[in-house]
Amino acid sequence: MVQPVPPEPARLWRNPEPKPAYDVVVIGGGGHGLATAYYLAKNHGITNVAVLERAWLAGGNMARNTTIIRSNYLWDESAAIYEHSLRLWEGLQAELDFDLQFSQRGVVNLAHNLADVREGMRRVHANRLNGVDAEWLEPADVRRVCPIVDVSPDKRYPVLGATYQPRGGIANHDSVAWAYARAADALGVDLVQGCEVTGIDVAGGRATGVRTSRGRIAAQSVAIVAAGHASLVAAMAGVRLPLQSHPLQALVSDLLEEVHPCVIMSNTVHVYVSQAAKGSLVMGAGIDAYNSYAQRGSFHVIERQMAAALELFPIFARAQVIRTWAGIVDVSPDASPILGRTPVDGLYLNCGWGTGGFKATPGAGWVLAATIAAAEPHPLARPFALARFTTGALIDEHGAAAVAH
Ligand SMILES: Cc1cc2nc3c(=O)[nH]c(=O)nc-3n(C[C@H](O)[C@H](O)[C@H](O)COP(=O)(O)OP(=O)(O)OC[C@H]3O[C@@H](n4cnc5c(N)ncnc54)[C@H](O)[C@@H]3O)c2cc1C
Repeated sequence: MVQPVPPEPARLWRNPEPKPAYDVVVIGGGGHGLATAYYLAKNHGITNVAVLERAWLAGGNMARNTTIIRSNYLWDESAAIYEHSLRLWEGLQAELDFDLQFSQRGVVNLAHNLADVREGMRRVHANRLNGVDAEWLEPADVRRVCPIVDVSPDKRYPVLGATYQPRGGIANHDSVAWAYARAADALGVDLVQGCEVTGIDVAGGRATGVRTSRGRIAAQSVAIVAAGHASLVAAMAGVRLPLQSHPLQALVSDLLEEVHPCVIMSNTVHVYVSQAAKGSLVMGAGIDAYNSYAQRGSFHVIERQMAAALELFPIFARAQVIRTWAGIVDVSPDASPILGRTPVDGLYLNCGWGTGGFKATPGAGWVLAATIAAAEPHPLARPFALARFTTGALIDEHGAAAVAH
């Protein structure tokens, strides 16, 4: 008997062959590349766009991050772009018609010494001046917001207080990528997987297209949105970026009942932890000190992080770690992103988000799309120009971004 052929499963996006030419080619199919393509199409009517991804969509840092979303950065320029992003998050599920498991459960940044306290209080004041929700918590308040944190004073890492952003939270990173991919595809964007960019063509100081593992593709504008590989891709056009690529690790526990109601971060002990909707504890560590593209990190970093996590959360002693992994993050000298034009006309950058770019996915995509459409930096992008590393107008976010997310 002939078996009936099962129907094709419904696909969220097409799998098109690349065309010979596009108005805009986006290199990198992570969250930022997908969001850029979506906003090019939606906000600017530019639909002749390809996103070229060397592997599969959103298999890089987008699939590997710990999904923390917040906007409580110190400097005005950072608060402006991260808050723009957070406001987009607040309407994103409805706009993309996709369950992103976006949960504004609040983000707590612990202070363990006097320097942390001073830095945290300063940041709370700066945030409030910028219209970002921010509170200072005393140890008893930390306990109220997160009852499972041990705030007793005799600990190795005593909790002396914390900053708190109630509107911060988490989302499901895969869903965010799929939602942007589906929406961009529906607007006519070609999402081309298995297409590695191997060269960028420049003629008369202008980018004219890319060479790929699937042939040459001409483009009027080319955007490098390749996160940990951004400096390698930019070098194809002769542009040198001040980025260091490092492994950054995270891990998940087995599935637990709901025990952890918010997001807790500690820059001093390099731990940040939340509980995903399905029940696993999601934890991250600090970067490995060496440069690498290997997408795996050192055991001692995880070990140290777990020791600190257990002191802060004694209840975790019975949880099992079921999976660890690493992504490659692109760290800039001032822990702030690089966004905007390059010395090559028609060649744009969105990189340097380091350990903290997931939260910026909607905002960065929005701002880069506007920059490409106008061939002029969007006002929120202007301070993050590559030129700041020669002018010295740095935006030093090491206090808010150095390790934690
Ligand atoms: C362990 C970990 C935890 C993190 N936690 C957080 C967090 O809690 N909150 C937060 O805000 N941020 C966090 N981040 C950072 C965040 O994930 C990144 O800043 C952000 O995802 C980077 O943007 P992206 O999603 O576009 O990058 P990616 O998803 O890495 O996308 C870049 C894409 O470019 C592709 N590419 C590279 N070279 C080429 C080429 N030559 N041709 C074609 N394609 C190419 C890659 O394959 C990749 O898919 C974390 C990162 C890691 C690794």
